Amino acid sequence: MPEPSVLLLVGAGHAHLHLLAEAGSLRAAGHDVHLLAPATFAYSGVASATAAGALPPGSGTLDVAGLAGRTGVRHHVARLVSVDLPGHRVLTSDGVWLAWDVLSVNIGSVASADGLVVDPDVLRVKPLEQLAALAERVREAAPRGARVTVVGGGPSGLELAGHLSVLPGVASVLLLEAGPVVGGALPQGARRRVRRLLADRAVVVRTGVAVTEVRCGHVLTRDGEVLDHDVVVLATGLVAPPLVAATGLGGPQGVPVRATLQHRDHDEVYAAGDCADFLPGRLPRIGVHGVRQGPVLLASLLARSQGEALPAYRPQRHALQVLDLGGGAGLAARGRWWWQGASALRLKRVIDRRWLAAYRP
Ligand SMILES: Cc1cc2nc3c(=O)[nH]c(=O)nc-3n(C[C@H](O)[C@H](O)[C@H](O)COP(=O)(O)OP(=O)(O)OC[C@H]3O[C@@H](n4cnc5c(N)ncnc54)[C@H](O)[C@@H]3O)c2cc1C
Repeated sequence: MPEPSVLLLVGAGHAHLHLLAEAGSLRAAGHDVHLLAPATFAYSGVASATAAGALPPGSGTLDVAGLAGRTGVRHHVARLVSVDLPGHRVLTSDGVWLAWDVLSVNIGSVASADGLVVDPDVLRVKPLEQLAALAERVREAAPRGARVTVVGGGPSGLELAGHLSVLPGVASVLLLEAGPVVGGALPQGARRRVRRLLADRAVVVRTGVAVTEVRCGHVLTRDGEVLDHDVVVLATGLVAPPLVAATGLGGPQGVPVRATLQHRDHDEVYAAGDCADFLPGRLPRIGVHGVRQGPVLLASLLARSQGEALPAYRPQRHALQVLDLGGGAGLAARGRWWWQGASALRLKRVIDRRWLAAYRP
């Protein structure tokens, strides 16, 4: 009987949650499965709603330690801090070296602060655990009513501006975007509809505003304008964690992977989700890729233990995206097709509930 090969999963992102659930088949194929990750996972699909108090706290929390326990995966509850690629080992945040034969990395992304000066206490959309403090910050600024600024008009900035506009205790919402439009990836009609919805709720949307400094009490623009607020959220897009470059696993775009999700230079290293730089064509940082890469990663790990050809990840050209704009309003878009209304949000809640239920006891 050959020695089982040690498969070390770093981060319990979407793709790795699938591997945890399927750990039995990995073990049967000769993998000794280990996980290095925090004890819980926060799901972004409901993050804006929970941050603004529209859904109860914990609605998007998964018990990773419980899942690993149920499926017999050895879970080291800590974070990755360093990688020794030639030595096939990683260093954990509690000072332990873990060895591996096959390494897979799924550690997500962080809010981009590229070219910005940002106070350390400023809320960022990621990590999501930080964003969860939003409603609390608004409450602290009440009773006079909080003036809130959202920096960045992408999907998460739009969701947050929408939720904040109906949150009690918020006096005003200002949404700042450097580009010419908000929701740049949405079809034109959908963009117009979101602008109208935000305008109806008295959200002030300003485009073409290049922010250079994000401070706890104000933002500074390139034109020298100072805009005051009580609470600010940085929603300037998602980038690979700086840890990827610091550990030598990749660069600022993430861990470079081929279509097989294997590292460009190391067959025994995989990466999935937002932390991966998918070399066949850059992917938007949306959860759907992490979700769909899970089964490909699983098939690859099973195939490699049998010496079979490895499958490739083929991204969909257009993925369904549903924004939760607060106050019961949703907006669904896929390619040039879109619709806005309560039914879009109901669809989102069904998709989110089903996905979360797959990893709960
Ligand atoms: C407010 C908001 C709303 C969003 N809504 C949607 C949406 O509705 N639909 C959609 O498709 N996308 C959405 N996104 C984008 C989505 O969050 C990401 O694309 C998705 O989470 C990426 O999945 P992932 O599996 O790569 O990483 P993640 O889901 O971020 O998971 C990575 C995991 O790795 C862990 N980790 C991080 N660092 C380490 C470390 N050093 N060591 C060990 N573990 C580590 C983290 O704790 C985390 O649990 C949203 C983003 C934001 C900010």
